[in-house]
Amino acid sequence: MAKLSQEELLTDEGIRTDGRKIDEARPFEVEVGVLTQADGSALVRQGKNLILAGVMGPYEAERHSQFLDRSSLRVRYHMQPYSTNERKSPTYSRREIELSRAIREALEPAIILTELPRTQIDVFVEVLQADGGTRCASVNAASVALADAGIPMRDLVTAVAIGKVRDTLVVDINDLEDENGQADFPIAMMPNKGKITLLQMNGLLTQEEIKRSVEMAKRVINSLYTVQVNALKKKYAPLAASNEG
Ligand code: ADP
Repeated sequence: MAKLSQEELLTDEGIRTDGRKIDEARPFEVEVGVLTQADGSALVRQGKNLILAGVMGPYEAERHSQFLDRSSLRVRYHMQPYSTNERKSPTYSRREIELSRAIREALEPAIILTELPRTQIDVFVEVLQADGGTRCASVNAASVALADAGIPMRDLVTAVAIGKVRDTLVVDINDLEDENGQADFPIAMMPNKGKITLLQMNGLLTQEEIKRSVEMAKRVINSLYTVQVNALKKKYAPLAASNEG
């Protein structure tokens, strides 16, 4: 597709390609426990992104891969061939390996791995539909799926990508903004702990823009976090109430 100009990405009135304002995140929905045979699962919609995360574990790790003092976390991020506008090759790509690693590193600090020695936890992320920021949406789905699996955690992890279009910072970028914009800055946090667990950058931002991006991301992350927590409550609050009664 032909490249979009910066003016096409952000109008004089401050409206983006999908009608959003610069500080407006995409609609965000989370459904917990959608898979009956995984130990934990979550389906996330973040704009047009549709991401399914399934967790297997904790289970006893194979001898050769177990740690005596902690659990080991594996993450596999995979994109379906029909998930992108141009058919994605079904072969597992270099990019998928790299994103799997980034997602694992974003999640790991939130998991109390030492509570589960000698075990293995596997997270399988399937991108069913992609529209920019899938690593962030994957982190959002995976952290809820881990909580659904009953994995001991310090906090959930919540992520959003900040971008720059027409020299302006915008939140939760879509694919057009990612591809044609001036920067892509994905950020993941443990919102309750105020700790950043993932920070990557594609493009260029000034120090001042980085600081402002983190502040913008925090605001979005706090509202996404509420949606994640409410989705978990929706499944678990009725169970807790019936245990009390
Ligand atoms: P993220 O999804 O985290 O932003 P990238 O920056 O690598 O990761 O990808 C940006 C977007 O480009 C994706 O969300 C997706 O919409 C699109 N995309 C990624 N890989 C492919 C591919 N192989 N074919 C077509 N589109 C792709």
